[in-house]
Amino acid sequence: MSLSSVAYVPVNGDIVVMKFGGTSVAAADDIRRAAGRIVAARENGRQVVAVLSARGKTTDDLLNMAHEVSDHPLAREMDMLLSTGERISCALCAMAIHDMGHSAISLTGSQAGIVTDSSHTKARILDVRADRIRDALGDDRIVLVAGFQGVSGDSRDITTLGRGGSDTTAVAIAAALGADVCEIYTDVRGVFSADPRLVPDARLLHVVSFEEMLEMAASGAKVLQLRSVEYARNHEIPIHCRSSFEDGPGTLVVSEKETMERPSVTAVTHADEARVTLTGVRDEPGVAAQIFGALAGANVNVDMIIQNEPVSADQKADLSFTVDPGDLHAATEALDRLEICERLETDERIGKVSIVGAGMRSHPGVAAKVFQTLGDSGINIEMISTSPIKISCVIAAGEVPAAVRALHQAFELGDGAIRREEPTGEEHRPAVRPDEDEDEGRGGA
Ligand code: ASP
Ligand code: MG
Repeated sequence: MSLSSVAYVPVNGDIVVMKFGGTSVAAADDIRRAAGRIVAARENGRQVVAVLSARGKTTDDLLNMAHEVSDHPLAREMDMLLSTGERISCALCAMAIHDMGHSAISLTGSQAGIVTDSSHTKARILDVRADRIRDALGDDRIVLVAGFQGVSGDSRDITTLGRGGSDTTAVAIAAALGADVCEIYTDVRGVFSADPRLVPDARLLHVVSFEEMLEMAASGAKVLQLRSVEYARNHEIPIHCRSSFEDGPGTLVVSEKETMERPSVTAVTHADEARVTLTGVRDEPGVAAQIFGALAGANVNVDMIIQNEPVSADQKADLSFTVDPGDLHAATEALDRLEICERLETDERIGKVSIVGAGMRSHPGVAAKVFQTLGDSGINIEMISTSPIKISCVIAAGEVPAAVRALHQAFELGDGAIRREEPTGEEHRPAVRPDEDEDEGRGGA
């Protein structure tokens, strides 16, 4: 982030960045609804930058198209292709806004000044050169920016930011413009205490800290892209996550200092993972570095790692780790080449259930209660990992729904539990729309 862009102070009224996800711009009516929200914010005196995702399943369709013509689509061309989805949304929305009597301009990520590194399909934002956005705002225009994309400063090629990357575009622009808030409009009402599809009495969380949201996004909550939360935390940009289909309080993601005294646990999350187990690994210095070096080289993100010290000196070690199921193939390929163990076994699908809460730091006995709850439900724990504000257990994939429900109830997170935040008077129905986009909402947790 360049200093000049961070130091920018808005002059003509507050700037708001509004991001609309794929389901929020899927059909023509959805685009008009999003346009209506944007125009309403403008008529309230705010300067509006809106970041849009590709419509509905467009990104998946584009990916499929690439694989129809090539077994190994070139990454550079893949980004040329994928970046078109967001451009379509923005151009259409600009037209709809124009019909509502306002002036709007759509910009590609590159035109909007989103400068990235050159790692195609998973680029990172390095700078936001927002002059063109500022100029357009100064001309009293609403600015629509295509999410999920930028341009490499080195190669000048178009890049994309990884699935769900429009969230990160929105937060980065909010930071560059000094916006008060980044509003993320999606197909769920906000972030919930658990996936409402598994837990009918899951509660809408009104305030979540950046740290909690980071842990939740990393452990399976789909509502915000992990990287966007990191970016928001680093630049202290509050995120307001809300439904584009109904009005409601939504969820504010803010610094911990602004959150209230919290209960020990805030949410239960879950995810699918895959596991690799290496047995007969040489017990000597440098071996783990070789294993995880090879995985890093293959661009595999490792989640949990467990290694036991062999009991006698001549014994070999066993080591297990978990990865995203989509990375399993790349992981085993990388390790096969290393020939570092006697056996390599994989579980293609295991479940992970986590509890997250900033209050955990000051409440003893939380781990014991998690293990007791799972034990009482007859659920076997296969791996455990913790952070100061999270406890995760790997369990059989089929036991995830029961585990999530049991933990949600044990920690009294449900709507029926004693309310720990100010009542809002709104009802708490499961928020997931029947036609919900898998990529976007997962009812928060
Ligand atoms: N359209 C892209 C995706 O589906 C980016 C986004 O929606 O944020 O991943
Ligand atoms: Mg999406």
